[in-house]
Amino acid sequence: MDQNKGFRALASLVLGRDLCTTCGACAWICPYLDAFSARIVRLHDCDLAEGRCYAHCPRTGLELSHLNEKRFGLRDVPVKLGFYSKILMARAQDPGVLERAQTGGVVSSLVAMALEEGIVDAALLTRVGKDLLPSGKIATSREEVLECAGSSYVASPSLATLNRGPWDGVGRISVVGVPCQVLALEKMKSCDLIQDAPARKVVLSIGLFCTWALSYGPFINFLRQRIPWETVESMDISPPPERILRLKTSDGTREFPVEEIRPFIQPACAFCADMSSELADLSVGTVEGEPGWNTLILRTEAGESLLEKAITQGILEVKALPADYLEHLVEASILKKRRALERLRNMEEKEFKYLKADSSWLEAVESGPKRGEP
Ligand SMILES: Cc1cc2nc3c(=O)[nH]c(=O)nc-3n(C[C@H](O)[C@H](O)[C@H](O)COP(=O)(O)OP(=O)(O)OC[C@H]3O[C@@H](n4cnc5c(N)ncnc54)[C@H](O)[C@@H]3O)c2cc1C
Ligand code: SF4
Ligand code: SF4
Repeated sequence: MDQNKGFRALASLVLGRDLCTTCGACAWICPYLDAFSARIVRLHDCDLAEGRCYAHCPRTGLELSHLNEKRFGLRDVPVKLGFYSKILMARAQDPGVLERAQTGGVVSSLVAMALEEGIVDAALLTRVGKDLLPSGKIATSREEVLECAGSSYVASPSLATLNRGPWDGVGRISVVGVPCQVLALEKMKSCDLIQDAPARKVVLSIGLFCTWALSYGPFINFLRQRIPWETVESMDISPPPERILRLKTSDGTREFPVEEIRPFIQPACAFCADMSSELADLSVGTVEGEPGWNTLILRTEAGESLLEKAITQGILEVKALPADYLEHLVEASILKKRRALERLRNMEEKEFKYLKADSSWLEAVESGPKRGEP
C-alpha cells in the first residue's frame, strides 16, 4: 500500500484538487477537520507527517488488488461488478417499509432486521434534516431506520458520524453508504493508527449503487430560486431515457430534467470508478424498468446469511434478475470505470493517480463499451 501521509498531503492532493467525495471519513477525528453543511471544512493546518485523515480517504492510494485480497481473499476479482456470489431482484414485504423506502425497501428491511435480531447493535445511516441537509445518523431501532429511509441525491459526509459516535455500549455496527464511503470504510477498518477506532466494530456494510451525487450548496441555491424548497419531502431520479429529478413536496411534485442539475454534481464523482459498492457485504440498487424492485448483489457470507434470514422470516421476496437487466448493469458499471479512467489520465498532474489497478483491470475497462454521460 501507499505510504501514509498527513493533512498537508490530503489538502493538496484531494481537497485542493476536486477529488473529495464528501464521504466524511477524514472529519471529526481531530480538532482540525470538520463536516459542516455537507462540506469538509479545514479549521486549522496540521503538521503531523501521518494522519488518519489521509489513511481513511478513498482518494488517497487505492490499490484495488490489495483491498480485494483483504476483503475477499482474492487479489483478482471480476472487473465488471467486483467479487460476488449471487445477483437477485428483491423487495420488502412490509407495506409500511415500502411506503417510506426509496425503491423496494431492501436496505431499510435488512438494517431493521439486523438490529432486531441482534446481528448488530447500531447502524450508521444517512438522514435528511432541516433544509434538505443530509448527515450521518446512528439508528438503534426500526423506527429510527425508517426515519432514514429514502435517498438524498446530495453527497453526505456521513462517515464523520462513524468517527465521532457516540458508540458507548455498542459492540457491532452496520454501515450503509455509497461506494466511495464503502471504500473509505475498508480503509478505516484497516488503519492501524489507533486500535479502538469505531470502524473496527463494523461487521456489516450495505453499499448503495451510485452514479453521482450533488454538492449541497449549489444545488440548494438552484432550488431556492425556483421552488418553495422547504416543502420538499423526498426526491427521486427516473432512469434513462427520461432522466428527471422528481421532488415530492407537501403540495405536489416538481420536476427538473437531470441536465439542469448536472452542473451541481460534485466534481469528484467524475473520477469515481465504482458504481456498485464493490467492497460491501451486499450491494443494493434499483432495477430499471421494474419499479419497486431492488437489485441485490451478495458478496460475502455475512451478506448471504442476512438475506437467508430475511427470506425465511418473510421480510423480503426475491426473484431472478433477467439476463438483459444484468447485461445492462454490467454495461453501466464498466462505463463508469472507463469514464473515470479517461479523466484520471487527463489530470494535469499525471504522476498522481489515486487508483492503482493492474493491467488486466485496465484492459477490461478500456475494451468495454463507450457511451455518453450517465
Ligand atoms: C447519492 C445516491 C446516488 C444513487 N445512484 C443510484 C444509481 O445511479 N443507480 C441505482 O440503481 N441506485 C442508485 N442509488 C441507490 C438508490 O437510490 C436506493 O438507495 C437503493 O436502490 C436502495 O433502495 P431501498 O428502497 O432499499 O432503500 P431505503 O430502504 O429507502 O434505504 C435507503 C438508505 O440510503 C441511505 N442514504 C440516503 N441518502 C444517502 C446519501 N446521500 N448517502 C449515503 N446514504 C444515503 C439511508 O441511510 C437509507 O438507509 C443512489 C443512492 C444515493 C444515495
Ligand atoms: S474524500 Fe472523504 S476522506 Fe477524502 S478528503 Fe473528502 S471527505 Fe475527507
Ligand atoms: S459517484 Fe462515487 S464519488 Fe460520487 S458520491 Fe457516488 S460513490 Fe461517491
